Amino acid sequence: VRWSEGQGWHDPSITAREPLTMDPSAAVLHYAQEIFEGLKAYRLPDGKLALFRADANARRFRESARRLAMPELPEELFIESCRALATVDREWMPTVEGGSLYLRPFMIASEAFLGVKPSAEYLYMVIASSVGAYWRGPARAVSIWASREYARAAAGGTGAAKCGGNYAASLVAQAEAIRQGCDQVVFLDAAERRWVEELGGMNIFFVFDDGSIQTPPLTGTILPGITRDSLITLARGMGLTVREELYAIDQWRADAESGRLTETFACGTAAVVTPIGTVAEAQGRFTIGGGVPGPVTTRLRDALVAIQRGTAVGPDGWMQPIA
Ligand code: PMP
Repeated sequence: VRWSEGQGWHDPSITAREPLTMDPSAAVLHYAQEIFEGLKAYRLPDGKLALFRADANARRFRESARRLAMPELPEELFIESCRALATVDREWMPTVEGGSLYLRPFMIASEAFLGVKPSAEYLYMVIASSVGAYWRGPARAVSIWASREYARAAAGGTGAAKCGGNYAASLVAQAEAIRQGCDQVVFLDAAERRWVEELGGMNIFFVFDDGSIQTPPLTGTILPGITRDSLITLARGMGLTVREELYAIDQWRADAESGRLTETFACGTAAVVTPIGTVAEAQGRFTIGGGVPGPVTTRLRDALVAIQRGTAVGPDGWMQPIA
């Protein structure tokens, strides 16, 4: 679907995947006016296809568009584009048990000009790829590196938007994490390098020995994850106390060492829920819950996966049938 000043949204089409033709001065190539989303379609036991909380992705896409001075795509068009692509080609049907279709809607500024101003033309597209089930059998707890050198987002910046530039800026920190022998990076706040924010592509949760759960609040520097929101709802439904509060890295270490903190996990659309077993930082490493996936992590993950696979009923509207 294209957008231009005067015409608004127009020319929707589904085509075979092929290279794009763009002018070398297209705004996106120079000023990174680009946003995207990530969501999944699942096949339910009755054979129907359903999107998981696509309305929430549509809303986040609009918020990202607003932050990047781009036109807002109507929610119906967002959902229809995902529905149309997921149903047009049935070959994606995952053969792996628990597989799903990952959908990647995105929008780029396509007007050709040199000069810093919002583009007057945009291209919105969706691509898709079939993915197998993550975490089959016992999950491996991952290790993360707390970067003190690089921050992901500062107050007033684009941290809450899903724009490519945020990820470009995070790659060097992820490379640092790998160099430190870890699987992933965890970012601290830009101002003090003290408050735990999120991973490169996942939000983070802490579980305490009194059964309560904590996750950093949406202060504008982290991505408002849809998995994060879903797990808060599910945890509260299980009677668990959930706090959205800042958590300092030094406190995290102290609580892990004293046993007050029993589990930590990350969450996002791709991997759903991933247990974190080890944290490495300037002060050295510390282990959480013996470095193995904990019971609360497993329980929340199982509850969410059951809803997504259609073997349990979730809150109204979470699974949106599309065909
Ligand atoms: N934080 C970041 C930086 C991400 O890229 C993602 C993945 N979209 C998340 C958190 C998790 O968001 P969601 O649960 O909506 O996939």
